[in-house]
Amino acid sequence: MSAPTVLIADDSLVIRAVVRDGLESDGYRVVEAVDGLAAVERCREDRPDVVLLDIEMPGLDGYQVLAELKGDAELRDIPVVFLTGRNTMDDVVAGLRGGAHDYLKKPFEGPELLARVAAASHVKKLQDQLQQRNAELERLSRTDALTGLYNRRYLDQELTRYHGDSIRYQYPLSVALLDLDHFKQVNDTYGHSAGDQVLRVFAEHLHRELRAGDVGGRWGGEEFLLVLPHTDLAGAVAVADRIRAATAAELVAVDGRSITVTVSGGCALALGESPEAVVQLADAGLYRAKLGGRNQIATAAPATPRAP
Ligand code: GH3
Ligand code: MG
Ligand code: MG
Ligand code: MG
Repeated sequence: MSAPTVLIADDSLVIRAVVRDGLESDGYRVVEAVDGLAAVERCREDRPDVVLLDIEMPGLDGYQVLAELKGDAELRDIPVVFLTGRNTMDDVVAGLRGGAHDYLKKPFEGPELLARVAAASHVKKLQDQLQQRNAELERLSRTDALTGLYNRRYLDQELTRYHGDSIRYQYPLSVALLDLDHFKQVNDTYGHSAGDQVLRVFAEHLHRELRAGDVGGRWGGEEFLLVLPHTDLAGAVAVADRIRAATAAELVAVDGRSITVTVSGGCALALGESPEAVVQLADAGLYRAKLGGRNQIATAAPATPRAP
């Protein structure tokens, strides 16, 4: 792991030099800023783990720098330790209330400074770990374990979001529901783990054929859903048919044998009804594709015009 970085923002050359010396001999990487604006700039550029912040500086003062950092979602978690000659109770309180992690008065003792920086750096490390774990949990919560594709929970969420957007911003939204053909037979003939392998290979086709902005994932079992914003019905059929063709064209190796798998699909255009309704419509298309002989893409039958 790389050494934690500490930003020392102080307009005094002497203070910067003394602090740098102490921190570097304790193993930190040190960057400097000579005034408030430079301090904010360095935070953006260097993403320090701790900021040692003077209060009286040209340009922005320390309180203003702190406010800038707290107002920026990307920087607000960097612990700030005030290091300042301003040492009234009011100054300390204002600093801590503004969101500072700690407050150290000049003149300071080297060992105390190092101990406080170490404490701040430790907090930052724990925060970073927590953030990483949260990101990993979030990724897992939207991922299907077998295929690595998005799972149904995430597809549902995206479908609802795009459905609302497509109405608000008046753009076409289509979905495609794809279902592997005679998949039960694959399991029955080659075994369940061969079936799993087929699902993974199909997931790769699907992933490869999707355009940026399309959302595709595993809807359940051997069914896959594509949410296609800014796509009309013909566009959806084209996307689904590319996946169909790629699937039919490739042999899947399972247990030293090669098998061909095909997929059928139904496409539908959202018509301002509910998100569920458009999936149902796609499912009706899928049913027709199965009836029509499989290995094909279809849409729902157009509604029969009513007799006058
Ligand atoms: P059709 O062409 O009409 O879709 O026929 P089908 O056999 O694909 O459809 P059916 O619904 O009869 O069978 C789906 C099969 O998919 C049954 C189920 O065991 C299998 N399946 C669902 N999820 C998984 C999985 O995660 N792994 C494996 N190996 N099989 C699965
Ligand atoms: Mg099915
Ligand atoms: Mg079925
Ligand atoms: Mg099937």
